[in-house]
Amino acid sequence: MLQIKNIHKSFGKNQILKGVDVQIEKGDVTVILGPSGSGKTTFLRCINFLERADEGEIKVDNIETSFNKARKKDILAIRKKTAFVFQNYSLFNNKTALGNVTEGLVVGRKIPKAKAIEIGKQALDKVGLSDKYDAYPSQLSGGQQQRVGIARAIAVNPDIILFDEPTSALDPELVGEVLEVMRTLANEGKTMLVVTHEMSFARDVANKVIFMDDGVIVEEGTPDEIFAAPKEVRTQQFLKRIL
Ligand code: ATP
Repeated sequence: MLQIKNIHKSFGKNQILKGVDVQIEKGDVTVILGPSGSGKTTFLRCINFLERADEGEIKVDNIETSFNKARKKDILAIRKKTAFVFQNYSLFNNKTALGNVTEGLVVGRKIPKAKAIEIGKQALDKVGLSDKYDAYPSQLSGGQQQRVGIARAIAVNPDIILFDEPTSALDPELVGEVLEVMRTLANEGKTMLVVTHEMSFARDVANKVIFMDDGVIVEEGTPDEIFAAPKEVRTQQFLKRIL
């Protein structure tokens, strides 16, 4: 359902992605691991056209285009199918939790306000925030804010949710509640592509793990294959450092 071929991206002279291929099927929970600076976030942002890749092709369902030639219509269609959860939540501070979730439905999808409110409440219920519809981000903990970010992503009913290090800005005691929501979504069969340093999530929840280093995929496999028997030296060294 999502296929990326030969993606390249440079910032100035710095080549960050050097030809990455990824294939994701419906219901897959794919985790991308890798050292800092290896290009994980850039890769995710390119999928959603938050960054424009220099080269490569993307296919999401029936939409197929190249990164550098994609037209606005294709970009909007791909964005509709790929919701993004940001590391720093990226909420509107002047909108309530419900306002943040309904904004994209009303403005982006032209859903009537009453219907958007109904969908928005359901999404907030799903992430355990039924009592926070009217709270502003400043009145919420980091974990709650990120759960609003996830509610905003699921409300638009995307084909795939892209998570960019969703717990790395959180105090350690707040990480669990966000991972729990993500685990529930995975169990319900949502298709997820997750950049994270949370090894327990990768091991327990993912069905596929990709190890990236220096702009390329070094190795990919099931969590068992990657964690118990990594084949590549770079993967072995990375895992030794963090486990
Ligand atoms: P981390 O785990 O630390 O978030 P990462 O693997 O996600 O790392 P990226 O955030 O994709 O890595 O960054 C890869 C490289 O690209 C880094 O050297 C970073 O400084 C550079 N980079 C990212 N965004 C930009 C930008 N907008 N302009 C210039 N350089 C950038």
